[in-house]
Amino acid sequence: MSKFFTEKFAALEPYTPGEQPRDMQYVKLNTNESPFPPSAGVAEAVAKECSKLQLYSDPESTALRKRLAEVYGVKPSQVLVSNGSDEALNFAFMAFADEKSPLAFPDITYGFYPVFAQLNHIPYTQIPLKEDFSIDPADYMAIHKTVVIANPNAPTGMCLPLQDIEDILKSNPGNVVIVDEAYVDFGGESAVKLVEHYENLLVVQTFSKSRSMAGARLGFAIGNEKLIADLNTIRYSTNPYNVNRMTEFAGVAALEENDYYLQNAKTIMANRAWTVSELQKLGFTVLDSKANFVFAKSDKIDGEKLYKELKARGVLVRHFTKARISPYVRITIGTLQQMETLIEKIKEILGA
Ligand code: PMP
Repeated sequence: MSKFFTEKFAALEPYTPGEQPRDMQYVKLNTNESPFPPSAGVAEAVAKECSKLQLYSDPESTALRKRLAEVYGVKPSQVLVSNGSDEALNFAFMAFADEKSPLAFPDITYGFYPVFAQLNHIPYTQIPLKEDFSIDPADYMAIHKTVVIANPNAPTGMCLPLQDIEDILKSNPGNVVIVDEAYVDFGGESAVKLVEHYENLLVVQTFSKSRSMAGARLGFAIGNEKLIADLNTIRYSTNPYNVNRMTEFAGVAALEENDYYLQNAKTIMANRAWTVSELQKLGFTVLDSKANFVFAKSDKIDGEKLYKELKARGVLVRHFTKARISPYVRITIGTLQQMETLIEKIKEILGA
């Protein structure tokens, strides 16, 4: 830390992204990316926009918001687009949480929530998941806090039924409930349909997972017009050109080819079912995942050892050191061939 670093951030613990080693070609199952490339129209759209890079992007992302509104059955004024969904989450924390309306989220969830809370000096409560790693909706009833729920949750992959989300919304009319649906396209049920009924609902999604565009950095939020206007106040005070022109039109092109991505999500779900059954045959406990990853543990090997042994054999998975989940590894679901390699290496490790 330099002597110039401001005291207000001295204790900030930044987010640690999943490792991206360059030393060799890994079977990369550690950051929940899609194993499939973007659809053909995306590359064409990017090439076209490249020749206009001397011009700023549209600060309203008009074309993309219009297309998103059509696909999700809302008005363009109910859509905000962002530089990855991380940015939409940060904007939402800034806009809707403070000392009077502190944050509440599970103890085991996406690691960026406490970081954004600390960055913005927002107090937060981490509510323990139940013993079986599910969220107890009763913990969030009339809590008088800004609630953040990843649904499906990460790194568990488990879903909260939409009815429970609705009960949480109803019991907290004075606070915003942020539902982070980064992984919803792999078998979850979206809360977008509730937006017209609850002025306190903000749904956040991303193009990074089911739409194969993690490297383009594109996310979006859908909610009541007034919530979106508040987010725009923050956006125009931070970075009005937050979505670059290549990414905006890559997003438009991806939405034109939605069937390709729906098909890929189906393939991932089938590969997930195969992987779960193979892991179970090897004695693993696997949580019920509706995401493009599974969270699994074995009595025969602890999580950190399994992660290291797999890495030594060219397969990257994610391990978290937090005590409650340290026996587990999080495995991204890739192609069937990648999953076959994973299972083969695990058999080798357990047999050794
Ligand atoms: N929410 C959750 C639950 C995530 O796991 C991630 C990905 N790490 C994100 C949001 C952010 O994804 P992105 O910024 O790539 O849209």
